[in-house]
Amino acid sequence: MERGAASSDIVTRFAPSPTGYLHIGGARTALFNYLFAHANGGKFLLRIEDTDKARSTDDAIAAILSGMRWLNLDWDGDPVYQSQRSDRHAEVAHALLERGAAYRCYATPEELTEMRETAKAEKRPIRYDGRWRERDPADAPEGAPFTIRLKAPQTGETTIDDLVQGTVTVPNAELDDFILLRSDGSPTYMLAVVVDDHDMGVTHLIRGDDHLNNAFRQRVIIEAMGWPMPQWAHVPLIHGSDGAKLSKRHGALGVEAYRDLGILPEALENYLLRLGWGHGDEDIVDRARALELFSLKGVGRNPARFDTKKLENLNAHYIRQADDERLAKLVEPTICAELGRDLDDPSRELLLRTMPELKPRAKNINELADGALFLFRTRPLNLDEKASAVLEKEGGELLGKARSTLAQADEWAVEPLGNLLRELAEAEGVGLGKIAQPMRAALTGRTQSPGVFEMLELLGREESLARIDDRLS
Ligand code: GLU
Repeated sequence: MERGAASSDIVTRFAPSPTGYLHIGGARTALFNYLFAHANGGKFLLRIEDTDKARSTDDAIAAILSGMRWLNLDWDGDPVYQSQRSDRHAEVAHALLERGAAYRCYATPEELTEMRETAKAEKRPIRYDGRWRERDPADAPEGAPFTIRLKAPQTGETTIDDLVQGTVTVPNAELDDFILLRSDGSPTYMLAVVVDDHDMGVTHLIRGDDHLNNAFRQRVIIEAMGWPMPQWAHVPLIHGSDGAKLSKRHGALGVEAYRDLGILPEALENYLLRLGWGHGDEDIVDRARALELFSLKGVGRNPARFDTKKLENLNAHYIRQADDERLAKLVEPTICAELGRDLDDPSRELLLRTMPELKPRAKNINELADGALFLFRTRPLNLDEKASAVLEKEGGELLGKARSTLAQADEWAVEPLGNLLRELAEAEGVGLGKIAQPMRAALTGRTQSPGVFEMLELLGREESLARIDDRLS
């Protein structure tokens, strides 16, 4: 039997224009393409659409590639650079010319401006009027520059069966004879996309619905070339929490900005996936689960709203799930920068041992780093305002008694230390909090931290007692 011949033929692609960082809308498009390909045993390709030389930059290309790597969206094969394929684009434009599906247009820039002005004045849609469509090129002045335009159908209608939007039809009267090849021989975006998708064997185009209008035009080129028609899936764009199209104002940042905010890539991935795609009310959908579940049927037709709170909740979940060693490595640079020194091996080991206590409390990696800092601060610790207040109010005698009790501990571990302090609280007729709170302030310089007994054990006898002593003298 042929092994999954049909499904393994699926090829998707992500085709960013490198005019800026990889923003989250683009990242979601890439993710959907990745998942659709891999859920169906297909291939996911990457094409950098760098034909707009004035706006494309190497920095943007680097940011897109590194953003995709950070999100673990590996592409198959080498990225294709559209700018390197302009000869092939021109070749197809000429092939269309030979087939009679395109024509040379000698309209001058002045004529085109006039055409635009007249259309504006008459409140008609601005459209090329087809003046060279039926005209003999021999009419043109010798050696005059020309563009190659598509001979778009003028009557009837064009229908697209979009895998997300359903059946969408436009009257062909709305399609104009758009330019395929400029007078300098350079291809337009509309032509380049179609040629590249065909040559790369792309079967499914999953992209933002701002490209739906282009699909009708691209379809005409594909038909004229007699190429297989790809399937389209136009995904609604992401909107801000106020319902307006997502912009920087809403926190629409490049993916690396989310990394800097302490978001884990798998959390951003899960969030982006759920933004516009769903399977029942399953919120936690990791990569493995997504590969089981993803289908274009689950993509909604309405724009999804970006919700920072949900992203944070997912991030907290993935931090709790994450491997301690990985987390320790992620926070180390931040901790070192804050301390102004490197961590030695015992400190690194302490950080790793403390991770299970720290990670349930952090919403992002920066909070996690911040929560770990007290471990490495040199004595006497700087107290934050709340910790100072607690020590002022509750420190003193009780903390002194607690210190003497702890000093007698035979075994410096959570259980026996807890028992000793509980007994003390009972003997003193106070709640455990009266002892634990000032002790936490003394040990960490803060009023929030993991359990105080755990902190005692992790810091060790000597350091714990010394930190308490700093508050008693
Ligand atoms: N380069 C286009 C963009 O960045 C995408 C083209 C496409 O997906 O067909 O918006």
